[in-house]
Amino acid sequence: MYKSVVKMLADRGVTLTEIAEVVYEIQKGYYESLPLEECLESVEAVVKKREVQNAILTGLALDMLAEQGKLPEPLQSIVSGDDFLFGVDEIVALSITNIYGSIGLTNFGYLDKTKPLVIGRLNTHKNGGCHTFLDDLVAAIAAAAASRIAHARRPSNEED
Ligand code: MG
Repeated sequence: MYKSVVKMLADRGVTLTEIAEVVYEIQKGYYESLPLEECLESVEAVVKKREVQNAILTGLALDMLAEQGKLPEPLQSIVSGDDFLFGVDEIVALSITNIYGSIGLTNFGYLDKTKPLVIGRLNTHKNGGCHTFLDDLVAAIAAAAASRIAHARRPSNEED
């Protein structure tokens, strides 16, 4: 299951390393050193969770069906147009961030607003691709992986 989810993400244009780069970007300010390798390990640990895989499978299936014009209306128009009042894409993604508590939620909100790196690229919807769910899923995986690091490490400026 893990391998097919990673492949599905790659087929949709996102590698786990690109998600790890987002994690590094939002966490680097809190630690004296934060190897990209540690960010990648955290992303992998998040994607190995069953509830995360379920969210990815569901969201990506809807993106792909929308690309093929196969969703029933009015859902087809809503998903292919990435209607900002839809909100189900964010709700599916929140099932990922919820695993790591309120820090995950805060990180997700920040990524959803700032859209750094790969998240910004996905949001532009180039080449007719539908990324209505994918951009939120990627932001949620990065937010959860960042929260996981925050729980495991304490900021370097914090005593005891
Ligand atoms: Mg979206």
